[in-house]
Amino acid sequence: MPPNTANPRLPLADKVAVVSGSSSGIGAAIARELSVRGANVVINYPFEAERANAASVQESLERPGKSIIVEADLSTTTGASVLVDAAVAEFGRIDILVNNAGLSGMMSMSEEDNDAFLAHWEKIVNLNGRGTLLLTRAALKHLSPNNSRIVNICSSTSRDPEHDMPIYAGSKGMIESFTRCWARELPRKYGCTVNAVAPGPTATPALLAAPPEVLAQIKGTCERTPVAARLAEPKEIAWAVAMLCEEGASWMNGLYVPVTGGLTMN
Ligand code: NAD
Repeated sequence: MPPNTANPRLPLADKVAVVSGSSSGIGAAIARELSVRGANVVINYPFEAERANAASVQESLERPGKSIIVEADLSTTTGASVLVDAAVAEFGRIDILVNNAGLSGMMSMSEEDNDAFLAHWEKIVNLNGRGTLLLTRAALKHLSPNNSRIVNICSSTSRDPEHDMPIYAGSKGMIESFTRCWARELPRKYGCTVNAVAPGPTATPALLAAPPEVLAQIKGTCERTPVAARLAEPKEIAWAVAMLCEEGASWMNGLYVPVTGGLTMN
């Protein structure tokens, strides 16, 4: 095990963390938790209209002066390098990459509008799947050679699907597979570990804005949750991510960590 040089009160002191899609929801909570533990955080938002939200997340950090906000649309083929280049220009390296940016949505397999079906596929898969792939690829050559971390945000939906979400669930299954492939291939070459955190339903702006039929479905899911009949708080997901980022987690690699109050146990 590498020597644990971390300050126990600030276990991520001076680490550089890039959190994709961190202007709201789970990503914002992850940025805050990593900052509380001492990290310098790169906050990412996709377009100008989201800039004010990113700035207010930055203001809410434990160390706002040791963070930057970067506009980069990760659903494009160029957004990943914009984000990584900005992080490296400011901090010179990346210790922690959290692939959080993602979109969900419902689409029935029986949808009759083929164009709408294909547009939904492009929107979801270009961000969740390709965006995660390209951001990781762009970050690799800047990862610290010792004890760096990649954490991918999946979803309990890929293993325990809700109705009419085959494309979203499939995109998260793709990220699960990326996690396993990268956990085999990357650690010795890049000094990293690679793990996945899979939230269940979580009280974020995206989820709370869902249509009534989705919220009704989620209410039933909450009632089946062993720990309590409620949604997760974003900070409960962020805690699991931050734990995997600490130096003491150096032997945890290739894990799929459900953070669902016991709703899913595999
Ligand atoms: P959210 O909509 O609240 O936040 C998503 C973030 O991603 C926002 O900051 C948004 O600006 C950013 N974003 C959107 N498009 C982007 C793009 N093209 N490029 C860069 N950033 C972009 O969503 P959330 O609920 O916090 O979800 C965060 C992650 O957690 C997603 O990957 C989601 O699939 C996953 N997840 C959420 C839940 C849940 O119940 N909320 C459950 C399981 C998994």
